Amino acid sequence: MTARLVNVVDVEATCWPGSPPPGQVSEIIEIGLTVVDLVARERVAKHRILVRPRVSSVSEFCTSLTGLTQSEVDGGVSFADACARLVDEHEARKRGWASWGDYDRKQFTRQCAATGVDYPFGARHTNAKAVFAGDGRQVGMARALEITGLPLEGRHHRGDDDSWNIAALVLLMVERGSWRGV
Ligand code: AMP
Ligand code: MG
Repeated sequence: MTARLVNVVDVEATCWPGSPPPGQVSEIIEIGLTVVDLVARERVAKHRILVRPRVSSVSEFCTSLTGLTQSEVDGGVSFADACARLVDEHEARKRGWASWGDYDRKQFTRQCAATGVDYPFGARHTNAKAVFAGDGRQVGMARALEITGLPLEGRHHRGDDDSWNIAALVLLMVERGSWRGV
């Protein structure tokens, strides 16, 4: 039996037009999380956790991409506290979760390994981008919204808005009977 609630997660991270500057590494600065009710077939909550980077800073490039500024993320929580919140407030260990592609899962895995923070999620992760593609070509979230005629709500590359829009795509797949969540 598939569980009723799924966390749809989208992270933003420090970034540059090319490789990170010396001494810096890409770190999570925003975690967007939309809770989807697979039975009621609706999005039931939208959350945003801002995370203070430890060894990197928000470049101008990153601000233009994500809208996030250094001063904004300076007011965020530590990565360890963000992971604790995912577990304590969002049932991250118990609930299945989904993201568009494998980037978000891999970024958590990498950053947890690098910092010694416990990985906050359970084993049930679904790559919604792969499910959407089926045997066909994989496309980005914005393109998937275009293809399906769903609106891009909010700002693209803002974590909570991205998670909200990905959640709409998940619900469309549920509606169509093509959703294969774990
Ligand atoms: P997204 O969920 O598509 O908003 O992207 C997640 C993260 O991937 C961003 O916060 C960046 O760290 C990185 N990223 C996405 N697109 C780009 C890009 N065009 N150039 C560099 N980094 C990117
Ligand atoms: Mg995003």
